[in-house]
Amino acid sequence: MTADARDGQRKILVIEDEPDLVRGLTDALTFEGFEVQSRGTGAEGLEAAMEWDPDLVLLDLMLPDDNGYRVCETMRSRNPVVPIIILTAKAQEADKVRGLEAGADDYVTKPFSIAELIARINAIFRRQARLHASDESFPIGQWTINARKHVMTKGRASKRLTFYELEVLKLLREHADEAVARDELLEKVWGVQASATNRTVDNFIVKLRRKLEEDQKNPRHILTVYGFGYKLVL
Ligand code: CA
Repeated sequence: MTADARDGQRKILVIEDEPDLVRGLTDALTFEGFEVQSRGTGAEGLEAAMEWDPDLVLLDLMLPDDNGYRVCETMRSRNPVVPIIILTAKAQEADKVRGLEAGADDYVTKPFSIAELIARINAIFRRQARLHASDESFPIGQWTINARKHVMTKGRASKRLTFYELEVLKLLREHADEAVARDELLEKVWGVQASATNRTVDNFIVKLRRKLEEDQKNPRHILTVYGFGYKLVL
């Protein structure tokens, strides 16, 4: 598979601790053409949501280390747009309301049919596509970044941009031709405090260069400012 084909695949993060369910979901979603990763705890799930930047999250409420509502709230506070579908054995109306209040987009009660879940996932993606139908774009080199549609295009080539990739580009663009500190990117884009060991920003810069730059070893648009951060040259 080429890098471009991978870039076009939607990514679903499954946060669930029941191995049989994880296996079933992974197989079914992969078969539907989604790229799937799974995590068995809330802490690992939150980390993957920031690092892997999924297009949609399936979140179990009963996790070994944390309550799913809290995980949902934290994830939502960091990323206001990623769709979250809660998976739970609880069928009470109050639980459903609490899940939606925590920022979830939808709610599926176990045991559920995989076909129904996939229909709901596709409905969310269709709704998103309609929401993002209008234009808001800016150029970087020969690419046009379409912020509403989360894509970058050049001629007939088109690549999808994930939420965090786009947020990084937007922040760098606000300060085009100026150096932006790595810590500032981490705080403004991910909403988390800087830590000396955090490679999150650098990992996303690598991904963006892979998409944007002709020659990733000699980038012309996303430049490294050594010991400080990055600078965007349009
Ligand atoms: Ca569970």
